Formats: sequence, C-alpha cells, structure tokens
Amino acid sequence: MPPVPVHPPADLSAERPALRAALLDWYDAHGRTLAWRAAPGAAAPDPYRVWLSEVMLQQTTTPHATPYFQAFASRWPTVPDLAAAEDSDVMAAWAGLGYYARARNLLACARAVAHDHGGAFPDTEAGLLALPGVGAYTAAAVAAIAFDRPANVVDGNVERVMARLFAVETPLPAAKPGLRRLAASLVGDERPGDWAQALMDLGATVCRPGRPLCELCPLTRWCAGFGSGAPERYPLKTKKADRPHRAGVAWVLRDDRGRVALVRRPDKGLLGGMTGLPTSDWSGPAAEAAPPVAVEWRDAGAVEHVFTHFSLTLSVRTATGAGDFLWTDPDEALRSLPTVFRKALERGLSLGPHDIGEALVGQSPRTLRR
Ligand code: SF4
Repeated sequence: MPPVPVHPPADLSAERPALRAALLDWYDAHGRTLAWRAAPGAAAPDPYRVWLSEVMLQQTTTPHATPYFQAFASRWPTVPDLAAAEDSDVMAAWAGLGYYARARNLLACARAVAHDHGGAFPDTEAGLLALPGVGAYTAAAVAAIAFDRPANVVDGNVERVMARLFAVETPLPAAKPGLRRLAASLVGDERPGDWAQALMDLGATVCRPGRPLCELCPLTRWCAGFGSGAPERYPLKTKKADRPHRAGVAWVLRDDRGRVALVRRPDKGLLGGMTGLPTSDWSGPAAEAAPPVAVEWRDAGAVEHVFTHFSLTLSVRTATGAGDFLWTDPDEALRSLPTVFRKALERGLSLGPHDIGEALVGQSPRTLRR
C-alpha cells in the first residue's frame, strides 16, 4: 500500500480518476448482492424495483427492508399492479416499516406513473422529482441506479464516507450541504449507477458507523480521516436534545366472539389513515383518558415504544364489550397492525379479560409477561 499522507489535500481533483477507479474496482469485487439489484453484467435494474427499494430504505436498514421489498415485489410486481392496489392492503403490508405518510406517497406516485406516464418512470432526475412524494434523494438514486445518470446520491452512508475522507470538522447537521458538495465533486459520467451504489456499499460495510474497517478500504491513500489516526471521530455531531416522552392509553376491547375492536385513525397526524387500537391522544396523563365504551376496564400493564421524535408509554386496558368498531380476528390484527399497536395488543391479549384474574390487576408489565 502506498504511504498514507497525514493531511491529504482537501482538493482531490488531481487524484479523482485514481480514487474513482479504486472504488469501482472494489465494488466489482465486493458490492453487495441485494434483492432489488441487477446481477453483474445484466441489464439495468427495473426502475420500479429501484424506486420501491429506495423508498423503503429511507427509513430502515437493508436487512429489515429486504423481506418487505420481496413481499411487495411478489404481490405487486409492476407499477400498474401497485397503482391498482387497495389503499388498505398497501398500508397493512407497510406495517412495521414506519412513517405511513411514505406508504401513502408510494401509492400516489405509483398511480401517477401508471396513469400519467404510461406505466414507465421518467428517466431523468428532474422528471422523477416532479412525481408526487419523490424527494431529491429518491430522484437522484433512481436516476443514477436505474438510468445510469450522473446524479449525486447522498444518504447517511455517503455523508459519513465524505466526512471521513475529507476530515470535515463541521458537525452534522450543519455539515450536510458541504458534504453534498464534496460528494458531487466525485461524481462522474463513467458508471454513475455503480458509483452511487459503491459509495453506499462502502459506507454500509467498511466505512461503517462506529469503528470503520479501514484495513479493508480501497480509499485509505486518499482518506484524511484515516490519515488523522482517528477516522471514527467523523462525522462530528451536534449533541441532540433529549427525546421528549409521552404517555397514553390503548384499549383492548374484545367481543363475545373474541374479536378485537379496531378503529381507523384520522388521515392527518401520526399513523394517519392506519387501522389501530382505540387510544387516547398520547399527550396527557394516562389516568385522565376517557375509554371508548363505558364498561369495566382492567389494567394489563404497559408497553414502551420509541418514535423518531418522542418515546411513548402506553398503558393497556382490557375489557369485553360491544360497539361500533372494526371487529377483527386477533391473529389478523397482530399481522397487520403497526408495531406500536401490535405491542399493546400482545400485552392485552396475554392478559385478556377472559383469563385475567382480579388478583393480577395493577401488577407491573414485567410481572405479567407471558
Ligand atoms: Fe472510511 Fe477508513 Fe475508508 Fe477513510 S479509509 S473512507 S475512514 S473506511
């Protein structure tokens, strides 16, 4: 390996061809095999699959997104298939991926492509950006990966690689525009789709969060972070304020056939438009919340859930009763509900009104766990 400079030049323009060649060679040998990628040497990947994967990957990891991607691609193999799907089916299939607004945007975009573009995605970044729900990142990723356009695709992995490669001393999030410019300085006309995926793969597998595996990296000779001896320092981060905590109540009401009462949540707001358990508004003390029906409720403990912007403790109450609800088989509800409701339902079912005794009322969740 060539000698490693302690402070490589911030301007890598003279070194750019060699740096790009090194990373593309590394990608040819070590790029990940992913469900939505075309095999090496095969035709360009299907834009629908690229777009679907990129929307999913914006909010979760590759291992978590992969089974969702496979389920979507199997059930709705083309964009017209997805465009024709029932909203409720897509929402249910999205459960567990979070951010349901993205699922709604996914459908809006699929319908726009199917109805306004003859079922074919636009092949430019600007055309993609004009689609509903497609932001700058997704437009760039689809343009590069599916259409081999020289777009600047910058996700968290790429930001981390840039921050280390150039030893950027500005902390995130203020550093983002600068990191984007640094990434743009390395984009080229040769193999732009592979370049975008190579950078993502390097960030995910080698220049990973925490301690990077510099000994496996093809960029060490140009990397200022490596040269500094402490690449894990980068990217610098502004200390986050503590995540606020909220509390609320989830009611697990079962009818005399054992079915569970569900409701459709308002379109606006968190988990908007999703089916869920009846709950309080999660903003006040749990004890003050009014239940959905006036029956005798029993305490079934509590569950914890962490959203992006707050953490939540949901007290779970169970009862039998009737009313105007979406009565659903418990197994079906467990399969389709968003994670926070599934946790509460599991808690309520494990302590359901049919098998809970008065002696158990008020015990802690840990004591009551199955
Ligand atoms: Fe990241 Fe290390 Fe490679 Fe620099 S040398 S890009 S810090 S893995």
